[in-house]
This record gives sequence, structure tokens and C-alpha cells, in this order.
Amino acid sequence: MTDATAFLLDFTTSETRHGINPANTKPNPPVPISTQDDLVKAVNAARVAFNGWSKTTWDVRRKALLAWADAVDANADGFAKTLTMEQGKPLSQSSMELGKATEWIRGLSSIEITDNVLEETKDRKIIQRYTPLGVVGAIVPWNYPVLLAVVKIVSAVYTGNSVIVKPSPFTPYCDLKLVELATRFFPPGVVQCLSGDDSLGPMITEHPGIDKISFTGSTATGKLVMASCAKTLKRVTLELGGNDPAIVCEDVDIDAIIPQIGILSYLCSSQTCMMIKRLYVHEKIYDDFLKKLVAFVKTLKVGEGTEPDVFFGPIQNQMQFEKAKELLSTISTEKLKAALGGSVEPSSGYFIHPTIIDNPPESSRVVREEPFAPILPVMKWSNEDDVIKCANGLETGLSSSVWSKDLERATRIADQMQSGSVWVNSHFDLLPTASFGGHKQSGIGVEGGLGGLLEYCNSQTQWLKIKDDTGHEME
Ligand code: NAD
Repeated sequence: MTDATAFLLDFTTSETRHGINPANTKPNPPVPISTQDDLVKAVNAARVAFNGWSKTTWDVRRKALLAWADAVDANADGFAKTLTMEQGKPLSQSSMELGKATEWIRGLSSIEITDNVLEETKDRKIIQRYTPLGVVGAIVPWNYPVLLAVVKIVSAVYTGNSVIVKPSPFTPYCDLKLVELATRFFPPGVVQCLSGDDSLGPMITEHPGIDKISFTGSTATGKLVMASCAKTLKRVTLELGGNDPAIVCEDVDIDAIIPQIGILSYLCSSQTCMMIKRLYVHEKIYDDFLKKLVAFVKTLKVGEGTEPDVFFGPIQNQMQFEKAKELLSTISTEKLKAALGGSVEPSSGYFIHPTIIDNPPESSRVVREEPFAPILPVMKWSNEDDVIKCANGLETGLSSSVWSKDLERATRIADQMQSGSVWVNSHFDLLPTASFGGHKQSGIGVEGGLGGLLEYCNSQTQWLKIKDDTGHEME
């Protein structure tokens, strides 16, 4: 038994399944397959719990969340090993995700939500207030199973809801443990986790006892989730796929930004929603930039996430691995030029070595599709309007970045980006107080910040008549 498996409880249901360690394709421990019956029981428990939890104060909820954050921190080592075992990312990146998760528990629960007095006269008072929705279904993907589950759990329970978490079948282990820890600090039924197979997600979105779905995953699945939620008019927040452009101007300090751009294109083997996935470099510096980027990426080690100094772990699952290999095959079918990588080497896991495609046409699949694997297209640009048009030319609009020493110029370009987040001289910076979300087909609504929390609330406008129609004060 490894350290990571020892960390897990013995979760049981009559039928079980297991995940796969993507670095070596060995089976991970058994996990439950929750049934429709389990879901009904969980929803009933969540509805009962909601009655009490929704009446607690912000302070009570914050204290429970902070105690949970401390418990997660105290188990950080076990979580990091388990995350690497199930997701594949290197231990250093697993630890980073754990650190971010507890930062987000503390940060989100420090945001104040106050009643908004819209009018107060001697005759009447009008107040806009925010009330919890009920039961939230939190559907989580496999790329950041800890951080994304945490954002949904905190947003739900801090605003007075109960929550049922559904991890991806590919990465159930850390989410089960996160919720097992949470049950020590919240009343029964406030935070629950149901792990299952592919049938469980649709059961949750269909269930009439669930009031909101917070979903993170692919755009294709997001559309199915929204259609299913429409039947009972559930509230939905959809955080979906992206294909982030980064525009690099000719005035940058190439040597200084190459390591940043290299890391921000390939973190988690590019299985990150908000990663640089289309890199537009000004033609005046293109050749030098590409040569230095290739040299830098070559220094980043590929291997099992448990090995020291590894940067590129495996692709998380076989389906995604097959998709990535198929996309790599377009190098020959579309006559593209690989400046680095481009082929798959035999190994015991789902490894794709980092690949850089040298100036592919805008119409090529490596530019138009989200690879979700370390395959980066780098394109030449010369005209500002043209590059903005290319950057905005897809149906996705999750995030983007502009790199230049000239902040006026960079801001002018950033202002024209059609994306939920845009960074100047960075990418993938996140803060609990700053909302993120997608434009166009990258999503609906936001998570994080005050805006994200309010998506877990109903808005209620209260009209208080202080004097009756004869002018007498109400008692
Ligand atoms: P996915 O859509 O395949 O699955 C996401 C979750 O939905 C899983 O838990 C899955 O079991 C569940 N699910 C699948 N079918 C369902 C259905 N019909 N009804 C309800 N639930 C269902 O996505 P994935 O492959 O796990 O994640 C990768 C994608 O997620 C990428 O496109 C990535 O860009 C996107 N993503 C977006 C963000 C963001 O914040 N915008 C963050 C992370 C990942």
C-alpha cells in the first residue's frame, strides 16, 4: 500500500470501480458507484440540512470553513500524493493546487455580502438582500479536482446552501477525502460527495430536489447540462473550455518572458482551462523567440509526477491521450512544421512530450481546437488589428493575455479581447476576490469574488412600508 492509498478511507458501496494512475496505468483503489437511490437519500439529507444551515450567521459558516481549511492544510502531504496518483501532475504542482485551495477557502469566506439599501425615507425602506438557493450540485472535472471542488463547496456553504459534490470518475479520490474532512466541521448533510460512473452527472442535473448546478468541464457537456437543468429551471453556472490566445509584442524582453510563457503554456501538461494555447509572436522577434522558447521547454523534464524535478506529467486519461495523439497526426496530414516534439514515444503511461508547432495556418486544427495536451501552436503577426481579429476568431472566450513593455498599447489591445479574464504581462493569475468566467461558449456566469458568491444566492427585494396610507407609523 502506498502512502497515497493509506491516506484514503475505505469507501464502500455494493458496486465499486477504480481510477487509473495515468503515469503507469496501474489501477487505483476501489471507489463507490453511487446509484439513483443514493442520490435520492443525499438530496433528502441536503434538504433537511438546508433548513438549519440557511439560518446560521455568516460568522458561523466562516468559522466552519476556516476549521476545514486548517484540516486540509494539516493533511496537505497526503492530498498532494493522492492528487499525483490520480491526476498525474507532478508533486510540486499538486502541492501548489493544495495551497491555492486553502487560500481560496480563506479568501472567499472573507468576502462580505451585505444588504443593499436602495431607498430609505420616512415613509418606506427598500432593501435588496441575498438568500441561499437550497441544494447545489457541484460537478467537477479531472484537471484541478481539488481547487475546483473547493471553490464550489465554499461558494455554496458560505452563502447558506447545502452541497453535493460529484467528482470526475477519473479523479474521485481527493474530492472524497475533502468532503470526508468537511463532514467533521459542518452539520450532517451540509456537505456531501457522491462518486460514481458516467451515469451520475445526468441523474444530478435531472433531480428536481437540486436548485443549482455549478458545472466545470467541456463546452459540449456544458450544453447537455444546461438543457437538462432547463427542465426544472435550475440555476446554472457553467465554466467551460477555452483556447486562450497570448499576443506578444516586439518590444518585450524576450529572455525575461520566455520562462514565464513556457510555464504558462504547459502547466499540468497544458490540461488547464486558462493556459496559453495559441501564442501570437510579432514577426520582428519571431525567429529569436521561437528558438529560445524551444531551448527553454527542452529543459523541462518529462516523467512520473513522483520523480523529483519533473515538470511534464502524463495526460490524465486514455481518452484524452488518444485525442492528443490524433491531433498530433495532423502535423503530417496538414503538413505542419514541428519546432519541438510532434511524435509519441513508447512508455508505460499516457505521456505526450511537449510539442511546438512553427507558424501553422489559422485554419489548422492545432490552432482551432483546445488540445488539452502539451501541443502549442506559435504564430507570426505583424498588424495589430489582424492579430486581435485572430485572437477573437473562435467561439471560445475564456481568457487571454498581452505581453508588451508599452502599457498603453498593451491595454489598448487588452480592452479589445473577447474573454472573461485578460492579463497584461502575465497569464493565469487568480485571486479569491477576483471573479473568473468565460465569454461566448466558454461559459455562463462567474465563480469567485463577490460576483461568484452571488450566483449561489437568490436576490430578494424587500419593500417595508413605514407609514400607512393615512400617514400613521406602522407598529
Ligand atoms: P467533461 O465535460 O467531460 O466532464 C466534467 C464533469 O462533468 C465530470 O465530472 C463528468 O463526469 C461530468 N459529466 C459528464 N457528462 C455529464 C452530463 N451529461 N451531465 C452532467 N455531468 C456530466 O470535462 P473534463 O474532460 O472533465 O474537463 C476538461 C474540460 O473542462 C476542458 O474543456 C477544460 O477547458 C474545461 N475546464 C474549464 C474550466 C473553467 O474554469 N472554465 C476549468 C477546468 C476545466
